[in-house]
Formats: sequence, structure tokens, C-alpha cells
Amino acid sequence: EPINVDELVNSIIASEQLKADKKVNFTYSNIDKIITIYADKLHLGNVLNNIIDNAIKYSNEPVEILIACFKQNKNLIFSVKDNGIGIPADHINQIFDKFHRVPTGNVHNVKGTGLGLSYSKYIIEAHGGTIGVKSEINTGSEFIVSIPLSNG
Ligand code: ATP
Ligand code: MG
Repeated sequence: EPINVDELVNSIIASEQLKADKKVNFTYSNIDKIITIYADKLHLGNVLNNIIDNAIKYSNEPVEILIACFKQNKNLIFSVKDNGIGIPADHINQIFDKFHRVPTGNVHNVKGTGLGLSYSKYIIEAHGGTIGVKSEINTGSEFIVSIPLSNG
């Protein structure tokens, strides 16, 4: 199904902004003016929603979220960067596992099942793509999703 990437990202930002219980500033850029990608809209939307939802959940106010969408080689890249609590190095390889939640810091106060990222990885890999993360404790995290543009 052809998806208008700008519309999808903007609608997720709008709904996250409405439900956010803290001050969140979004900066969104789409420099390559990518209009369309062939993907499963419901599932891709859920993936982006979970990554952006995590960025808000695991950050303290004022939350700054940078979302960038661009073309690299023949892939569409989504990058979601937060100024949150970060992920400890000894957990970074496990956060994509089912039910894995980092058992430290203020994560205890944050609700979740630990399924969002394992679902995300499954969906992105089903599209022939990859999902990865870079993170630094008390500084923030960046999730990077890459999806081939030519799989439609
Ligand atoms: P769910 O998404 O199922 O409601 P969840 O958010 O706990 O629950 P995941 O989205 O799979 O589950 O994330 C797994 C764990 O990775 C989180 O519990 C949290 O410890 C850590 N994590 C995910 N995103 C971030 C982030 N942006 N900053 C810091 N930690 C994160
Ligand atoms: Mg989550």
C-alpha cells in the first residue's frame, strides 16, 4: 500500500502531542521530500508510534524529540532522537527482546509490557528493513529505522 510518509509522521506527532502528559517539543524534518513508501500502513504506523511513545515515556521534561526522515542509498530512514534517560550498555542488545524492560532508573514508574520494540523489529524486518539504536545514559537515545524504498 502506498503511504504518504509526511502525513503518517505528522498524524502520529499530532496524536502523541494530544495524549502527552508532559511538555514535549517536536522537531520534524523531511529533507528529501519523500512522499511515498510501499508498506503496511497500520503496522508501520504502530512501529513509529511506539518509538515516539517511548521517546516521550523515557524522557523528563522538557522533552525534545527530533524526528528526521530521509533517503539514504535506496532506503527510507526514520530517525527518532530524544533527550531522555538513555539505555544502559548492558541492556542495549536486549531491548528488542520480548518483554525486556530496563529495570533501573525511573523506568519503574513508566507503564509498559516490553513488547513494543520486539514487535517493531519483527515488522521492520518483515519489510526487509532494519532497526537499531544508539544511546547514552542521562543524555538520550536515537532509534534508526531503515526500510528499502523498492519493496513495493
Ligand atoms: P510497550 O511498548 O509494550 O508498552 P515498553 O515501552 O516497556 O512497553 P518497548 O517499547 O519494547 O517496551 O521498550 C523496551 C524497553 O526499552 C523499555 O521498557 C525501556 O526500558 C527501554 N527503552 C525503549 N525506548 C527507550 C528510550 N527512548 N529511552 C530509554 N529507554 C528506552
Ligand atoms: Mg514501548
